[in-house]
Amino acid sequence: MANGLGNGERAEPLAREGEHIAPAVDKEAFHCPWCGVLATQQWRELDLYQGIPAGVKRSDCSNCQKYLIWVDERIETSIYQWRMVFPNIGGGPRPHVDMPADVKADYNEARSIVALSPRGACALNRLAVQKLVNALVSGNSDLNTKIGKLVEQGLAPTVQQALDALRVVGNNAVHPGELDLQDDTETAIALFECMNLIVEDRITRPSRITKLYERLPDKAKAAIQRRDGLPGQS
Ligand SMILES: [Zn+2]
Repeated sequence: MANGLGNGERAEPLAREGEHIAPAVDKEAFHCPWCGVLATQQWRELDLYQGIPAGVKRSDCSNCQKYLIWVDERIETSIYQWRMVFPNIGGGPRPHVDMPADVKADYNEARSIVALSPRGACALNRLAVQKLVNALVSGNSDLNTKIGKLVEQGLAPTVQQALDALRVVGNNAVHPGELDLQDDTETAIALFECMNLIVEDRITRPSRITKLYERLPDKAKAAIQRRDGLPGQS
């Protein structure tokens, strides 16, 4: 079992459907930055020599067999803070497969710097949200209005509220190119998740529904059109 799931014995699931588990030191399983799969990790502490810990840990992904290196950045004698130093990515969720290519480029750039500069990642993410929304709603209206349109089309209003809280829209919105001193890794991760949610809700799901409708027999489609008073077969 590559990912350690499915034995039916676990009291707590590793993750719920759609949930992203960020890499963290000593965690039993997380979404691997190499392969993107939720996979169990095998941990070992590397020695300096003869059993003296070097403050370096290695975790091996059970799915792709690649390894990650973690370093103990000791701020004070008794405080330990482990940071993933290899591979050099922040561990944010991977972009949705249906994300438009130009948005995905910004998204991945933000992922690559989130560990080193959460503020820089947030600034890039806010630009990427604008690009994404502009790709979905044409015209010159402002971002707030455009997101309102997406909500009218079926996007959950809570996404708009989340974007307000993340200072993408609303009175606290951060202007493009500005760095916000409040921005941290959690904010960057929430912005990644918002973008994936918008893509799933406004790109992936409608295209799945259209495909489902197209697969219906002609007679069933005609009956729907008659019932809804749509032009077509009568
Ligand atoms: Zn992996």
